[in-house]
Amino acid sequence: MGKNVQPNILFIMSDDHAAHAMSCYDSKINETPNLDRIANEGMRFDNCFCTNSICAPSRAAILTGEYNHKNGVKTLGDNLDGRRPNVQKIMRENGYQTALVGKWHLGHEDIHNPTGFDYWNVLPGQGDYHDPDMIEMGERKKYNGYVTDIITDLSLDWLKNRAKDKPFMLMCHHKAPHRPWEPDEKHARMYEDVDIPEPETFHDDYSNRSNAAKEATMRVDRDFNKTDLKVDPPENLSPEELKGWKYQRYIKDYLRVVASIDDNVGRMLNYLDEEGLTENTMVIYTSDQGFFLGDHGWYDKRFMYEESLRMPFIVRYPKAIKTGTKTSDFALNVDFAETFLDYAGIDIPDFMQGTSLRPVMEERTPDDWQTSLYYRYWEHLSEPHKVVSHYGVRTERFKLIYYYGESLGASNTVDESRTPEWELFDLETDPFEMNNVYDDPGYAETVDTLKKELYRLKEKVGDHE
Ligand code: CA
Repeated sequence: MGKNVQPNILFIMSDDHAAHAMSCYDSKINETPNLDRIANEGMRFDNCFCTNSICAPSRAAILTGEYNHKNGVKTLGDNLDGRRPNVQKIMRENGYQTALVGKWHLGHEDIHNPTGFDYWNVLPGQGDYHDPDMIEMGERKKYNGYVTDIITDLSLDWLKNRAKDKPFMLMCHHKAPHRPWEPDEKHARMYEDVDIPEPETFHDDYSNRSNAAKEATMRVDRDFNKTDLKVDPPENLSPEELKGWKYQRYIKDYLRVVASIDDNVGRMLNYLDEEGLTENTMVIYTSDQGFFLGDHGWYDKRFMYEESLRMPFIVRYPKAIKTGTKTSDFALNVDFAETFLDYAGIDIPDFMQGTSLRPVMEERTPDDWQTSLYYRYWEHLSEPHKVVSHYGVRTERFKLIYYYGESLGASNTVDESRTPEWELFDLETDPFEMNNVYDDPGYAETVDTLKKELYRLKEKVGDHE
């Protein structure tokens, strides 16, 4: 296969950007015109899911095409072993020039640096929003400015200076909109005079659900700290008013930080247009997982519930993907690596566990396409959010979750047991997952079928713990 048919790949991934804060996903709370361009000029995936809703594990799944029990990154306490194969190494060996700019967060500084990239310049750990330090090929430097602008500037610099005779794969990984949601000057006063609508499940009281939901410490009304809220609340608010005030403080900063991402994605798209690269470049925008935007009264992620499980995933590639298309076919973060390889015309290695999304993108999804997914959150009761370890299966209509409630020796866990419990949601009648019907006799047969599917998937991906 000649070089000229290998597409360039621009993979833009933000951190904790929920699909329901993007107007191309019918957001009720903000506008993202530049991200919408990608969706309008390409395809929107409505059922793209992560296999473990937390930063490092999802990033490791994307780079290796493996589930976390295989790639070794089960929790935030694990490092990605750079000696192991990953998609960027394979792309590089097959003629691509590869780069990573922005958030890495898959190992401790100078011990587990990125591998497989011709160029990398990453934030140490979570990194800072303002005047961040970055590590350029092993050398730590301070950059003045706002992190989303800087990551975009460095990405554009690399594109401008790249070898023009080879295709590129650039992974541009934004820190934003991760906690503590610090906006830049340009967007600091956006939404100042408006009230952002509260989500339908904002006043969830966690009745009819697991103890795990009740135990989690990620509640808008209770668990934010001063760094999150930045200012003290007005005095004399009722508890309900205070909860509403905290939500406005949180969500406005979150959306301001998202607005900067949107502007900067626009800069990248304009560069591709100006350089005549649009036609032959696959542009993807995604996030490492979803996020609770006040949904269920929460912020953060981790749970297998929809807002946290779902990843935004929009892709534009004019040569192969029709404009304005949408799909509800299932896609997983472990599928991304194989998709890159497929489009690059490179053989997919046996260790990868996903499926190339190419047929879905080209609207020729095979009849036997995946209609269920396996999910596992390992980080049992870790501070500060105390979410119980669980695994589960989601099909087109149902979701079955098993909170097994053990550390099992995984890193960054608390060695305390919780009584195991199950949740079953009928997403057709209960899309917001407010009513656990696991013990409803009317669903007994469904429970049986889903348990079989759960253990089939567990076996298939080789997770024997
Ligand atoms: Ca994240």
